[in-house]
Amino acid sequence: MSENGQETKIIELPVSITVRDLAQTLDASPIEVIKTLMANGMMANINQEIDFDTAAIVSAEMGYEALPIHEEVEEQEEAEVPLWRKKLEEEDEGQLVNRPPVVAILGHVDHGKTSLLDAIRQTSVQAGEAGGITQHIGAYQIVHEGKTITFLDTPGHAAFTAMRARGAQGADIVVLVVAADDGVMPQTEEAIAHARAAQVSMIVALNKIDKDNAAPDRVKQQLADIGIVPDDWEGDTIIVPVSAVEKIGLDDLIEAILLVADDLDILANPEGDVFGTVIEAELTKGRGVMATLLVQNGTLKVGDTVLAGTSCGRIKAMFDYTGAKIKEAGPSVPVSVMGLSDVPKAGELFSVVANEKVAREIIGQRVIAAERAEVATDSVANLEQLFARVQAGEEEELRLIIKADVQGSLEPIVTSVQDLKSGGEQDIGVKVIHAGTGNISNDDIMLASATKSIIIGFNVGSDSAAKRLADTEGISIRKYKIIYHLIEDIEKALKGMLEPVEKKILIGRAQVLAVFPSGKYDQVAGCRVETGEIRRNAKIRVLREGKIAFEGGIASLKRHKDDVNEVREGFECGIGLKGFSSFEEGDILESYVIEMVSEF
Ligand code: GDP
Repeated sequence: MSENGQETKIIELPVSITVRDLAQTLDASPIEVIKTLMANGMMANINQEIDFDTAAIVSAEMGYEALPIHEEVEEQEEAEVPLWRKKLEEEDEGQLVNRPPVVAILGHVDHGKTSLLDAIRQTSVQAGEAGGITQHIGAYQIVHEGKTITFLDTPGHAAFTAMRARGAQGADIVVLVVAADDGVMPQTEEAIAHARAAQVSMIVALNKIDKDNAAPDRVKQQLADIGIVPDDWEGDTIIVPVSAVEKIGLDDLIEAILLVADDLDILANPEGDVFGTVIEAELTKGRGVMATLLVQNGTLKVGDTVLAGTSCGRIKAMFDYTGAKIKEAGPSVPVSVMGLSDVPKAGELFSVVANEKVAREIIGQRVIAAERAEVATDSVANLEQLFARVQAGEEEELRLIIKADVQGSLEPIVTSVQDLKSGGEQDIGVKVIHAGTGNISNDDIMLASATKSIIIGFNVGSDSAAKRLADTEGISIRKYKIIYHLIEDIEKALKGMLEPVEKKILIGRAQVLAVFPSGKYDQVAGCRVETGEIRRNAKIRVLREGKIAFEGGIASLKRHKDDVNEVREGFECGIGLKGFSSFEEGDILESYVIEMVSEF
């Protein structure tokens, strides 16, 4: 309570914070914060770091009491833990019951993932199940000695490995398939990195042991070398020799899964909030969007309104993995549902909301938040952010994924960058999350996104799909041809001395309240500035239902009848754009400027 009896809101702030982040914390516009700073004799721009004491003064003037942050949580870890796990923590503990384990099968291409999934499915087909014919919905269930296991079975095609990895987000246990004749390969290591990032337990299926050239011990040694130590070597990873083709060891594998599952607390509240993970989804010809959802809590019912990312809809029909129509599905049950408006992304969290209106509202907010985040920071893994986090004591390493053309160049790069340190007070070092040979692929981008890493390519290109994914995920890729330049840049990056690059900075946002004709063909938008300001010489992007409808310059900016250079928050104005006039009521116009920032 403050002296006048009014309640002061308490916020926690780090040792230093950018003006933009402070504004967000205070639920104010950056302009308001800048004005308050100016009133206190300090000139600052939106990206400037201000110290705790200064931030506390600004906060006090805006009705908040600022306390220094005292959090021990590792933000990096938090970012990687799948959302559904966090949501589960909100459930009433007393109502949690065991649910079947969900298993994802990952591994290098051609090591036998598909064969193994097929073999498990065939051996476990239950008597009475129509000739064992199952629909492919990206997941299935088996029952072994009365215990159910859910297997995620997303397409094994190379192009789908990213999807598979995303699906693994919903898993409790990962079975890593390693071919006994081929050993640990690049995607084996990627799969391990994904499993670690999602914090799921891992079992190794040492496949193809029927082959003459199978060398189980050599593979075990390779695994041990990268930290996966077999249990019969006093480690803690169960390794089961199997042959998907000869159907050897399948029961052992299933028993190993159940054993590991018993050790984990695999729980859910069937009566609780309904949520889970999108396993796969596609637009079909006759049925519209079909999405396979893995229920992880609550009970999903036909008629429920589902929200997944920016897609939503009422479930019109629901099918299980055998293709049978069902009315409801409890925890760990995979279902294929009909009724979503758009194709949601694999790996995305879904939840049930009250109705479509609520869903649409949430989607609107999500889209705008995502847009803003994108404008504010072009990359989730960029140096500016990293430094803000380092200064706030939240981060102490620069995470890299390194791809090179040949093993011979990879090794010296990895050894040299690992030794780099920023020096100074917050001594940040480099952590190599993954190093491998070959082009930068979708999997690398997925891994970078999951671990907030920057991708370094040495004498390699990136697949075109990977480039697009990097753009949408906001991942930085830097390519080099000379090792010395690469090392030098990382050194500079660690010290915050990289050459600045262009970046879009959001300065304000207005909503279109009405559309007026202007001249014979043109139209102008009557707007109200909701946050920040609209500047005559800044750029505008038009957002409609969350999507960018246009991006470009301003042709006219008027207050009443006068031309003006800027319009502040809270005021109304007329905006005409160069090359766009098909405004609609409710459109959002965002004003942004291009600034030079040092970003990795
Ligand atoms: P995926 O790319 O990991 O899904 O691998 P697939 O399941 O498609 O298998 C790749 C190839 O390895 C196929 O030709 C399979 O027949 C073969 N294969 C899979 N498992 C075994 C096995 O246990 N023994 C032998 N000999 N071949 C196998």
